[in-house]
Amino acid sequence: MKYILVSGGVISGIGKGIIASSIGTILKSCGVRVTAIKIDPYLNIDAGTFSPYEHGEVFVLDDGGEVDLDLGNYERFLNAKLHRDNNITTGKIYQHVINKERRGDYLGKTVQVVPHISDAIMEWVERVAKIPVDESNNTPEVCIIELGGTIGDIEGMPFVEAFRQFQFKVKQENFCNIHVSLLPQPSATGEQKSKPTQHSVRALRGLGLSPDLIVCRSRSPMEDEVKQKVSNFCHVGPSQVLGVHDCTSIYRVPILLEEQNVSQYFAKRLGLPIKARKSTLSKWRALADKQDRVHGKVTIALVGKYTKLEDSYASVIKALKHSAIAANRKLDLTIIEAQNLEDNMKIENPVGYYEAWKMLCCADGVLVPGGFGNRGTEGKIAAVHWARTHRKPFLGICLGMQMAVVEFARNELGLKDANSTENCPTAEYPVVIDMPEHTNMDMGGTQRLGKRTSVFKKECLLKKLYKNVDQIDERHRHRYEVNPSFVHQFEERGFNFTAQDIEEGIRMEAIELEGHPFFVGVQSHPEFKSRPLHPSPPYLGFVLASCGKLQAFLQRGCRLSPRGEHLLSTTEDSDSEADYEVGSVMAKKTSSDESVDRLAAGDASVQR
Ligand code: GLN
Repeated sequence: MKYILVSGGVISGIGKGIIASSIGTILKSCGVRVTAIKIDPYLNIDAGTFSPYEHGEVFVLDDGGEVDLDLGNYERFLNAKLHRDNNITTGKIYQHVINKERRGDYLGKTVQVVPHISDAIMEWVERVAKIPVDESNNTPEVCIIELGGTIGDIEGMPFVEAFRQFQFKVKQENFCNIHVSLLPQPSATGEQKSKPTQHSVRALRGLGLSPDLIVCRSRSPMEDEVKQKVSNFCHVGPSQVLGVHDCTSIYRVPILLEEQNVSQYFAKRLGLPIKARKSTLSKWRALADKQDRVHGKVTIALVGKYTKLEDSYASVIKALKHSAIAANRKLDLTIIEAQNLEDNMKIENPVGYYEAWKMLCCADGVLVPGGFGNRGTEGKIAAVHWARTHRKPFLGICLGMQMAVVEFARNELGLKDANSTENCPTAEYPVVIDMPEHTNMDMGGTQRLGKRTSVFKKECLLKKLYKNVDQIDERHRHRYEVNPSFVHQFEERGFNFTAQDIEEGIRMEAIELEGHPFFVGVQSHPEFKSRPLHPSPPYLGFVLASCGKLQAFLQRGCRLSPRGEHLLSTTEDSDSEADYEVGSVMAKKTSSDESVDRLAAGDASVQR
């Protein structure tokens, strides 16, 4: 097993995760099996209890792990299925060590950060690196480990110490270290400054880790003198200094790195059996070119409540972008604060109210994403009502589907004050109720989480989008569900529950309204499995409906172009066509992702 540690310098939020995933993509395209571990040095056991405002969206894995959204980047870039243990937090490591201490495993010894915590980190990394993450089910050959935060952070110290020891444990030829740093470019002179990088590398060396590669993030391409300077002052050869400047698309990052001979470097440094097979990278280039070329736009209103931080809806936005590219449209996303759509805002915040309604009315499609708690739910219900009665394409994700159920109950079934018990525990008509087995006072990890299989109960649009399969696997994260005792009343009025859980058989997994151009809701979060070349079927259907292309797409048997071409055609592609099948249910071979739109766009607001 070869290990590549990726640490960060100067500031966080410069796209270290994207650079790490891009390196993984490059190696994967050279025929190497790659896995990834993300280390978050905070004390939380996992990301499950985070407010989306803290760290952005909580990403959910097949095994139900609630993890940092960076794991989403790795899954999308590497087309891998990661496990909860691929995300290490200080909390997890301490919990593990303390449990061992309670069991008496340390035989009465004093338990200390070094060696007990550092040993636990090394053991964890070695164990998890071996777990297969792709369909071949073979042990990975390279493990990329991203250390969150920046070098010098107090929380990161035990991890840095663990890796200092680890490089000797696994031997130099199996371990290398990439340091991702920033070249600020003060506007006064416009010059790229290498001093912060020098300091950061000095700090890294002071802790016993020497960089093999220094990746410099910058606004514009790295200047040659700056490269030379970093090389001189940081004690590495010029070929070990790589530049990643802001570019139009994150799909360009792997290409940019490979242009600087990254795969050759690793082949030599780690003795990797690299095959020259670059087809995946050319697909990336084609995707980036396509994204730059597309002219027409599709305007989607995302009616949410964590609207101040786009990362709160990271996977939803990416799934929309994947679908928009497939539909040959630029995504024009308007994020609407749901609360501003509520009636009382007319008086309390008239500007916000009218602006929100204007944005909603101007959108081609309305998406209500997942969420928790009461705030903003009435606004979401108002948005659903508008989309339903104005025949605008609507997609409800998890809470969004639940709110669609509440809206229909109130306005079509005459069940006044129908509600979810999450919003109103004493609702007269509780059309959405809590799932008894998931009600627990402990908030961490107690929801219905991870991959669940649903079975289609009826012929419906959603089933067609999933290529007419009988059952689908998607990821879940919820505590409430549709109350089965009301289902009959809904279905009598053409509001159908089209899919149910395969195990319990009473969990309503999808809704669809008859006679509406596109009114679909799902209890799951299909966005977690969307890929750039393999958009999630409900999202793709929704975006196509929003730009008036859905019917043609269905008539062509779910093909995107009249001649049945796939998303992108690359002549040198040796992979099977399955790579590009849109709407296939089980994740097949794909590549890529996107995620540093922010990195690519150089968006400073993204610094987390
Ligand atoms: N709050 C809702 C529930 O727990 C929806 C959750 C979600 O949207 N992820 O069921």
